[in-house]
Amino acid sequence: MPDARDPETHDPQLYFAEDGNPRSERFGDIYYSLQDGLSETRAVFLNGCHMPDIWADKRQFTVAELGFGTGLNIAALLQMWADNRSENSYLHIFSIEAFLMSREDAARALNSWPELAPFSEAILNQWPKSRQGFHVMDFPQWGARLTLALNDVRAALTQWNGKADAWFLDGFSPALNPDMWAEDVLTLIGQHSRAGARLATFTVAGAVRRGLINAGFEVSKQPGFGKKRERLEAVFAGEALPDPAQTPRILVMGAGIAGCSLSHALTQLGFDHDLCDPGGLGAQASGNRAALVTPRLDAGGGAVAQLYADAHAYATGLYRRLSPQAILHEGVLQRAQTERDRARFEKVATQPCFASDALHPHDDGLFMAEALAVEPLAVLNALTAGRTIHAVPPRDMADYDHVFWAAGAGVWDQAFASHLDLRPVRGQVEVAATPADIPPQAQFLPQAWGGYAIPLPEGVLFGATHDREDRGADVRDADRMKNIDTLSKALPELAAQMEAAQLTSRASVRVTTRDHLPAAGTLSPGGHVLTGLGGRAFCLAPILAHDLVAQVFDLPSPLMASARQLVQIERVLT
Ligand code: SAM
Repeated sequence: MPDARDPETHDPQLYFAEDGNPRSERFGDIYYSLQDGLSETRAVFLNGCHMPDIWADKRQFTVAELGFGTGLNIAALLQMWADNRSENSYLHIFSIEAFLMSREDAARALNSWPELAPFSEAILNQWPKSRQGFHVMDFPQWGARLTLALNDVRAALTQWNGKADAWFLDGFSPALNPDMWAEDVLTLIGQHSRAGARLATFTVAGAVRRGLINAGFEVSKQPGFGKKRERLEAVFAGEALPDPAQTPRILVMGAGIAGCSLSHALTQLGFDHDLCDPGGLGAQASGNRAALVTPRLDAGGGAVAQLYADAHAYATGLYRRLSPQAILHEGVLQRAQTERDRARFEKVATQPCFASDALHPHDDGLFMAEALAVEPLAVLNALTAGRTIHAVPPRDMADYDHVFWAAGAGVWDQAFASHLDLRPVRGQVEVAATPADIPPQAQFLPQAWGGYAIPLPEGVLFGATHDREDRGADVRDADRMKNIDTLSKALPELAAQMEAAQLTSRASVRVTTRDHLPAAGTLSPGGHVLTGLGGRAFCLAPILAHDLVAQVFDLPSPLMASARQLVQIERVLT
């Protein structure tokens, strides 16, 4: 019997029928052929898109799917890609799902195909929580990644910064789920197709064929799989373009979290590059002893909240996979200062861009269960593993086809900075080594309230000052007193102990913008900038870096179109 679950939510109302196969009560349809789902996937979708031949000689290849379901199609695609990819090639997958099933249900379904086990497991290990937004799963071992849009099909396609070389249309049957096959959806598919893109689906419904033709596809019926008489293949107008023959020469300037995230994104996508910073790794604002990875708590329910929610999910997912050793704490407390704060936190926490258990009320404010405290240098090391950090560019600057500027406050040493409305905010933090009489780290949570405090194995980090229009990175006694004062507002006992403790101070300069949003984009041919990350660089940098690389090389992005719009560099041009 199907569960009786709330029909108002995005619950697929999934149940396992007596024959063991998953079905959706919401749509009254099956997820895949009861006979042999995997063979059907291969026959209809992989073979229907002429895989693997279609990606021979391609360095970057993009597959988009409508209807992620159990992930069976994607697991089978990953297997075929892993077995047939050319060296240094990269597979971008974009899939759409508005009614995400639980990981347990997906595991139960995928367990039917032991031959897919490594691929199913990799997907299940990165299965998202139910929320609205773009969720990224990385498969570096196979040169692939999946951006899963947890949105309705229209919103997902409209928000996607990408174009597909191949499409799997796998909504439930058009008769039971016409929305997934609506004419405007098929038009969006055309708009997100590369010349010569291939498309495959199990249905030959007349409306689908006509809609695809109107969207620019040439369609043909093919012999169907199993009991189905026919299936559909389609090709988008135009001739598929070959990959650019030359590999670009690329330089990344800056080895803080922004530059290291750019370097990591480039490496992942198969772009060789030089990374340069005169101060080495984390010489400036990314080099504190500890840092918080927290989203900005925007209660507006719009694109700003979505940007931070997706950036945070992306960054924390990346750090957990790549550098678990860099994680000092899971979970960060945002303290409420006023009753108004509490009301605002409640509004923030119930926004659909956050999973229902990601943010929850706490006696002192809001507990951000998925937020992290990290060791910045360990993160930067993991992002750039094995790469040389040059003190000066190893080639003449003019030799590079692309230069990515991610120099933090070093931006003001560059001539182009005079065209950008960027604002320095000086910040000093303190590290107290724990003498015997200071409470051990387990006794308080990493927390923020305007200031912040992070327990360390050897003591406590707290701060930070905010001095606008101040570019000094010198350590100041007055700021140390300010930091102790700020700490006393949240943790008075600890603050009292700090007055006698041995403190080590560190100051650096953050870069901010007038609207407090970051800025990323291209300023001149081959000149790109990632800046304005302010105090949230460890949350924002990974997704923005990937997006900037995607923009520059015309690749699909994990960042929503509305978020790219918010951060575009043009808005800070003076
Ligand atoms: N490809 C899947 C697999 O490998 O398991 C099977 C997909 S199943 C036939 C169709 C999927 O489309 C379901 O998971 C369903 O929740 C999703 N879906 C239906 N309507 C949707 C909509 N309007 N927007 C996004 N997803 C939708």
